[in-house]
Amino acid sequence: MAKIQMTTPLVEMDGDEMTRILWKMIKDELLLPYIDLKTEYYDLGLEHRNETDDQVTKDSAEATKKYGVAVKCATITPNAARMDEYKLKEMWKSPNGTIRAALDGTVFRTPIIVKGIEPCVKNWKQPITLARHAYGDVYKNTEIKVNGPGQAYLVFEGEDGTVSKELIHDFKGSGVLQGIHNTDKSISSFARACFNYALELKQDLWFATKDTISKKYDHNFKDIFNEIFEAEYKDKFEKAGIEYFYTLIDDAVARIMKCKGGLIWACKNYDGDVMSDMVSSAFGSLAMMTSVLVSPDGLFEYEAAHGTVQRHYYKHLKGEETSTNSVATIFAWTGALKKRGELDGIAELSAFADKLEKATIATIESGKMTKDLALITSLENVEVLNSQNFIKAIKETLEKSL
Ligand code: NAP
Ligand code: MG
Repeated sequence: MAKIQMTTPLVEMDGDEMTRILWKMIKDELLLPYIDLKTEYYDLGLEHRNETDDQVTKDSAEATKKYGVAVKCATITPNAARMDEYKLKEMWKSPNGTIRAALDGTVFRTPIIVKGIEPCVKNWKQPITLARHAYGDVYKNTEIKVNGPGQAYLVFEGEDGTVSKELIHDFKGSGVLQGIHNTDKSISSFARACFNYALELKQDLWFATKDTISKKYDHNFKDIFNEIFEAEYKDKFEKAGIEYFYTLIDDAVARIMKCKGGLIWACKNYDGDVMSDMVSSAFGSLAMMTSVLVSPDGLFEYEAAHGTVQRHYYKHLKGEETSTNSVATIFAWTGALKKRGELDGIAELSAFADKLEKATIATIESGKMTKDLALITSLENVEVLNSQNFIKAIKETLEKSL
């Protein structure tokens, strides 16, 4: 079989630890034999980030703006322990944070569904994609610990000289205070990213806040979503046969438990933080969650939702066998390849990515899987494979479909 040709390179962001090992195995076994893989390579491994003063991360984000589609391996976000371990010049920022800020994107997380790994919620038949607003609110708060009686005010001083002042509370004794904010620009970007992604997946979009209680703050989110929907997306949604649905957050939580899935659930920052962990653990495994960063102007960065699986990497370094699940990383590649195929009109490339996804799922459904899945599967007579052999088993299934 002739290798599939590409026209535009993917931005390839390599990463750290066990996922870096999987990254190479995936390329060698599942991609390079079939595709004349064109990538612009950026090594976001911590050593190289340190050598380049993290310039490589910024460059990889710029390349994503140039080419439109990136695929990223999990990377270490440095902490004190990593400073010593890698002898870092500085505690470099989270690459995901840097890339998200550069692309002004929203992160969408979707579980990969396979037979034998059943969601805890038995009526969830299709994946639920969670979209989390990644700016502001309690994540950019200002807090004061109040030690005694006094008045707390919320004050805004406009550059035009206007001043707005509201009494927050007349404290009779000690307590706490918190100030939070968001911007119309960020909320609008979030809204557009959600509407675009719903059109892309052809799935309904739900959005929920607590606007009955937060009559200005949360109501502003609701209004911005509504205005943008009415002005820019209503017709497109009608044509695609999908719906935009706004409700209260408590109503959304109650409904989500009763739904069949197959929808996108947009959440404010805190709701998204909490609900994405609930949704992913209820669907089965962190190693089966895909993640894509979508910018309002249509740039895409695909990755796995999990980290670098450090514990497995240390076993690997000691020469011990690992059984690390490569599914979410494989799906990061297939997501990026499909998108590249779609943008460049290379049907073969998208079709190949589809076959690779199907082969991955079929391999697990045939009972061949990594240890993390073997622990939670309802399938019997399961064969637990090591990291390398699991990828080889997928290759065998894939070859049959080509
Ligand atoms: P992690 O890498 O997600 O792993 C946590 C645990 O989850 C693992 O120890 C393992 O459990 C299980 N697990 C996760 N992915 C798995 C897979 N593919 N196959 C099998 N088991 C899997 O999180 P972490 O250990 O907290 O973080 C490690 C590093 O990753 C940190 O330096 C952090 O900064 C980074 N990180 C990066 C990203 C990103 O780049 N997007 C996201 C999160 C964290 P067992 O050990 O029980 O087998
Ligand atoms: Mg969280």
